[in-house]
Amino acid sequence: TAKHIAIYGKGGIGKSTTTSNISAALAAEGYRVIQVGCDPKADSTTILRGGDDLPTVLDTLREQGRVTLADISATGFGGVLCIEAGGPVPGVGCAGRGISAAVDLLHELEVFEQFKPDVVLYDVLGDVVCGGFAVPIRDGIAERAFVVTSSDFMAVFAANNLFKAISKYAPSGGARLGGIIANGLQAPYARPLVDDFAARTGTRVIGYVPRSLAVAQGELYGQTVIQSAPQSEQAAIYRALARVVVGDEDTTIPRPLNGPALKGWAKSWGDRIFTEEAALVEAGGGV
Ligand code: ADP
Ligand code: SF4
Ligand code: MG
Repeated sequence: TAKHIAIYGKGGIGKSTTTSNISAALAAEGYRVIQVGCDPKADSTTILRGGDDLPTVLDTLREQGRVTLADISATGFGGVLCIEAGGPVPGVGCAGRGISAAVDLLHELEVFEQFKPDVVLYDVLGDVVCGGFAVPIRDGIAERAFVVTSSDFMAVFAANNLFKAISKYAPSGGARLGGIIANGLQAPYARPLVDDFAARTGTRVIGYVPRSLAVAQGELYGQTVIQSAPQSEQAAIYRALARVVVGDEDTTIPRPLNGPALKGWAKSWGDRIFTEEAALVEAGGGV
């Protein structure tokens, strides 16, 4: 049976880039992969498909009523089946219900039975862990979730919110946490900061993806790094990450920090970074 895996993270943090590169890496290794974009932005699978737009499930349902798989999917790099759930009309309706409706439709159309995927990846906006965006981890859609974060406080804050949702729903059959994917770490303190957050919340970091020009270049051509620069170090990093995501089924129920604990933790890192930078400047180094 297929593995259903959700990838969460704050908007703009690199969910779609990371998810698409994982899909492409798995497809290149012979896995049958479906990637479902669960972000009203509907650009999850763009770099698997040469940069083209794909009609979303919700728009198509609204416009046509009756929908076939061909109306709402496209085959991307390596045969990845690409689907964008889409969103409600801005200002109207619930994005979370949209995700439910989209997944229900995939079941009605028997997409999973017919395509027989090994892996289904859900790329989910995780800024707001309201009931809506928790749908994929709450309603038995995904069995495991990962969160993409950088060392920025707002990204860590979003990750901590996701942990709150997981710790609430996992005991009654919701998804469990596979770990953190650290993306775009740059400053010297970034990695120890993310590692420390993982340790404090009882989880692990399953991969460190550096900021890379290859990613930016690939994006301009509508390609993942797996396609545009398969020999690059960045592609090797995504391949290694993909193997962990699909092959290492260790999970936990994370222990999110409460509001004051998270603020206190952030402040202690602020103090530490400030002190270390001051010491560096004193020693004549740059930052
Ligand atoms: P999200 O899906 O979380 O909103 P995206 O995956 O669309 O975020 O990424 C946002 C922007 O950051 C894109 O332009 C993408 O190319 C860029 N990006 C993401 N990860 C990296 C990386 N590791 N190196 C360079 N650019 C990156
Ligand atoms: Fe939006 Fe979440 Fe409210 Fe749904 S539950 S309308 S997704 S904020
Ligand atoms: Mg995205």
